[in-house]
Amino acid sequence: MNEPEVLLSEDRIAERVREIAREISADYADKDGVVLIGVLKGSFIFLADLSRALSIPRSIEFIAVSSYASGSRSTGAVRLIMDVRGNIENRHVLIVEDIVDTGHTLKYLLGILQSHRPASIRTCTLLHKADCVEVDVDIDYVGFQIGDEWVVGYGLDYAERDRTLPYIGVVAPDDRG
Ligand code: 5GP
Repeated sequence: MNEPEVLLSEDRIAERVREIAREISADYADKDGVVLIGVLKGSFIFLADLSRALSIPRSIEFIAVSSYASGSRSTGAVRLIMDVRGNIENRHVLIVEDIVDTGHTLKYLLGILQSHRPASIRTCTLLHKADCVEVDVDIDYVGFQIGDEWVVGYGLDYAERDRTLPYIGVVAPDDRG
């Protein structure tokens, strides 16, 4: 098993998270705060860093979905595992995702969260595989565009491995077993 090859260093991620936080803080400055909805499990580290870098009132909720049974190819089938617990009706909601690949998960999440009747919904993802998009869904804040490769670290895993790596790395196809 090889170490994942570094794609985005810890410093680069930290700098970009601060930039996105500034942008979000400015965009929501005239609102009564934002509810950040972290998509479990992959977004938990990004959410922790992003939420602490914001300069506006914010609260945290979580939602859990499962997109892939295992392995690394999207089936497009998304299942709700845990809905948000708090009341988000009439609140300004920002979905915080680790990665958008085909877009099926984000589209599904938008549908679920719309049914809670928030005042607004925006979307934020640390990583976006722009070449892999299958469904059209608006993403308001994107950290980095990446290619079609399997990435781990900073919250993202491969079969539960490498989630807590401080950097984002690429898993070689030979190591996906
Ligand atoms: P989508 O529905 O957009 O195809 O897939 C989104 C979900 O697929 C993400 O929330 C994540 O769980 C998973 N995913 C897609 N690509 C990657 C990747 O390169 N690494 C990891 N760890 N998860 C991925």
